[in-house]
Amino acid sequence: MTAEPHPHYEVVIGLEVHVHLKTESKLFSPAPVVYGQDPNHAVHSIDLGLPGVLPVLNRRAVELAIRAGLATHCEIHPRSVFSRKNYFYPDLPKGYQISQYEEPIATGGFVDVEIEGEEARRVRLTRIHIEEDAGKSIHDATVVGDDDTHVDLNRAGVPLVEIVSEPDMRSPAEAAAYLRTLRDILRAVDVSEADMEKGQFRCDANVSLRPKGTSELGTRTELKNLNSFRFVEAAIEAEIERQADVLDEGGQVVQCTMGFDPETQRVRVQRVKENADDYRYFDDPDLIPLELDPALIERIRASLPELPADRRRRFSETYGLSEYDARLLTASRPLADYFEEAARIQGNAKTVANWMLRDVLQTLKEREIEVGALALDPPGLAQLIGLVESGRLTAKSARELFQELARTGGDPETLMRERGLEAVSDAGLIERTVDEVLAAHPEAVETYRGGDQKVQNFLMGQVMKRTQGKANPAEVRRVLASKLSG
Ligand code: ADP
Ligand code: MG
Repeated sequence: MTAEPHPHYEVVIGLEVHVHLKTESKLFSPAPVVYGQDPNHAVHSIDLGLPGVLPVLNRRAVELAIRAGLATHCEIHPRSVFSRKNYFYPDLPKGYQISQYEEPIATGGFVDVEIEGEEARRVRLTRIHIEEDAGKSIHDATVVGDDDTHVDLNRAGVPLVEIVSEPDMRSPAEAAAYLRTLRDILRAVDVSEADMEKGQFRCDANVSLRPKGTSELGTRTELKNLNSFRFVEAAIEAEIERQADVLDEGGQVVQCTMGFDPETQRVRVQRVKENADDYRYFDDPDLIPLELDPALIERIRASLPELPADRRRRFSETYGLSEYDARLLTASRPLADYFEEAARIQGNAKTVANWMLRDVLQTLKEREIEVGALALDPPGLAQLIGLVESGRLTAKSARELFQELARTGGDPETLMRERGLEAVSDAGLIERTVDEVLAAHPEAVETYRGGDQKVQNFLMGQVMKRTQGKANPAEVRRVLASKLSG
């Protein structure tokens, strides 16, 4: 994919991804899950760990974690255990984070990562566990004073799953492709909005190098909190360079945690790596083990929608789309749903796909909106296309109408009449216009009869011009051909 910068090292990458679960309330408290609101307004005493309070597990969060596990082919364990991960940090008022450690809810799944033009690569998942998020420390000098740090606890206790991959990725591009695939899956099954900008989908990248042809893992470093796909790639790229330089000079990579500075595009050491021992993990005495009813797992399995890769494959097969087009149309579930509804109503899926790929996608891109914001709904698009198919609207007029309908909505047929765009199929008018055009261009008629039939396109254009583009093109072509050969 990308050129490997160091031909004698193999790059090894494993990712830890934290994903917010789409719940109304927090993992163990009734405080709401909010984004972008005033700091410290969505906090419950349970989130603060005040004396005497007890956590109550959010059932919806557990269901969503199961969904995440099933969508990534994991084994869901009927029993899992919540543990305390102890550390001190100002954004963690309890002094510990409730997580799952020795007995996570899911293990052993995989994600198939398809990079265009290459064979799919399988990235194995080590585990998925449920945990609560910590609060946020705000150092931003534009928000707080220059030397100050403020703490916002709105995020403390927000439910998330951590998805840990095996060290199966071999390039920064592959890591980014894995992340995109994982995000698409989680969105498709409604587990998370997975919006990186809102911090709902965050990634730590573990990176090591080893001499090509060897299988033992090299010493890794961990890049923390990479908050965009671009940064993930850039940070791993920079870290590969750094480690390669260390190794080239005969040095050793030291296991540590690193941060990435997007401004300088450089990585720097944050702290020398802590061990699991440092966290003094132990089972949380406030929470009993999580025992799942197998029937619940099966109910959730049965409720899963089609996964993105399956849908893409089905789109190419049933609608005869190229892999590339199928990928475009399945880029989001709402877009794919929109297409399928319009295609079902209209009947001619191939034509609807062409409209989607050209007019709809172009409009979405130009206006920077999602398909849900189009004023024209799928039945409307189907109707518009139907008007073209029946010859009542020329393709050109239809595309104009589409622009307006996409903004303001309304009924395509009514708008067509209002705008005076209905195609002229009036045989008399078309014949008269063809006669006029032939009379006005005798040289073109000569050329045609002399054997150069391409000139018919010119004559066709003249007829369309005289009818302001409203003549039914098929009809014009038929009349022209018969008069020219007559
Ligand atoms: P921790 O939880 O302390 O970060 P883990 O053993 O759970 O450590 O590993 C976390 C991540 O690091 C996993 O995604 C794993 O695949 C990855 N990883 C482990 N060893 C290496 C290595 N040598 N090179 C690259 N990635 C690694
Ligand atoms: Mg880690």
